[in-house]
Amino acid sequence: MPSFYQKTIKREIQFKGVGLHNGKRVNMKLVPAAPNHGIVFKRTDLKTKNLIPAIFDNVSNSVLCTSIQNEFGVTVSMIEHLQGALYGEEIDNLLIEIDSSEIPIMDGSAKEFVHQIRTVGTRNYDTSKKFIKVLKKCELIIDKKFISIEPYENDLKIDFEIVYKNQLIGNQRKSVRLSNGDLDSVYNSRTFCLFEDVEKIKRLGLGKGGSLENAVVVEDDKVLNDGGLRHKNEFVMHKILDCMGDLMLANYKILGKVRCSQGGHQLTNALLKKFLSDSKYFSVVEFKEKRFPNSRFYNRPVAVSA
Ligand SMILES: [Zn+2]
Repeated sequence: MPSFYQKTIKREIQFKGVGLHNGKRVNMKLVPAAPNHGIVFKRTDLKTKNLIPAIFDNVSNSVLCTSIQNEFGVTVSMIEHLQGALYGEEIDNLLIEIDSSEIPIMDGSAKEFVHQIRTVGTRNYDTSKKFIKVLKKCELIIDKKFISIEPYENDLKIDFEIVYKNQLIGNQRKSVRLSNGDLDSVYNSRTFCLFEDVEKIKRLGLGKGGSLENAVVVEDDKVLNDGGLRHKNEFVMHKILDCMGDLMLANYKILGKVRCSQGGHQLTNALLKKFLSDSKYFSVVEFKEKRFPNSRFYNRPVAVSA
């Protein structure tokens, strides 16, 4: 069960790095924010119109990574690994200042973001937080790709499957329940690509900052990075990190089960749009703690519709 109360971080955190796709040096600062602020990006290289709320209907592009855009056309991209870290660490309120249009790729995973967030610690507010509780199954099938969201316990479960012709990646399926407390193998899983796709990505003008320092590259049955994989499920666990980061754009944490086969940013974002556009699929709830003296049985949270 996730925390019932809103959180931010205790102190500011600075990151420096490079954009995977634009190749530019970037400085990023995570700044604590008040209850009900939500997650908002601020482009500090621009003087005005520079705030971009991290919500699903601001998604402007989800090819290779997730980009969001405000009403003035100002964008920030590659938000998903940081967003995945915020989802897993249950950060609800944050201002993310960034002096470029792309989040630093770091080592291709969310490991450093999580490490810094845990190092400064979180600040808990006494403002209750809202959740999206799934009431009815909603699904999308596009060719062989599939994604669904359905009712579950008071938690988020992501069940993900990848199917690759490449023999090293092959078929992998894993499921992760968020409040189980062991998300480290999700956080430390790096983004990956096939060596044969590197040229295609570069021809699109992307991947300019890409290297073996920030992405796993697979050629035939070999991992080209020194040291190989961090663990045997790194590919599918990275897809779970991406999915978690994209689900963070729902604005509130989700209580439901997401099942995906061969999907990615586009499919997750398309599902969120369909799911959140019709209230038959969900309700927004918050938990009020009802405390009765001397009774551990009644000392349980009660869901109320918000
Ligand atoms: Zn990713």
